[in-house]
Amino acid sequence: MKPVLIKVHNQKELFINWDDNTVTKIELKKLRRFCPCATCAMNRENESKTYIPLFTSDQIKVLRIFEVGSYAIGITWNDGHNTGIYEFPYLNYIAKENDSL
Ligand SMILES: [Zn+2]
Repeated sequence: MKPVLIKVHNQKELFINWDDNTVTKIELKKLRRFCPCATCAMNRENESKTYIPLFTSDQIKVLRIFEVGSYAIGITWNDGHNTGIYEFPYLNYIAKENDSL
């Protein structure tokens, strides 16, 4: 599956329209929480089960979305963080992840 349209809605959610006409919505908060870069992945691993994600509003605002090859998107967050490369299957995975984390 490939996205035909990706947009940020009200600085709250990321909308992805796929080429099979399905739509995936991901809260920006969740997108940031599941940032796939090495630093964030390590932080997640070190967290306990009771971890409460705390973000400043800057960290969950999207400044820019850019294509990475034909397999992923990168996101520049308002706080400058931009090392997370979100491969398309990963976006689908995040969308299905339990939101209560
Ligand atoms: Zn990250």
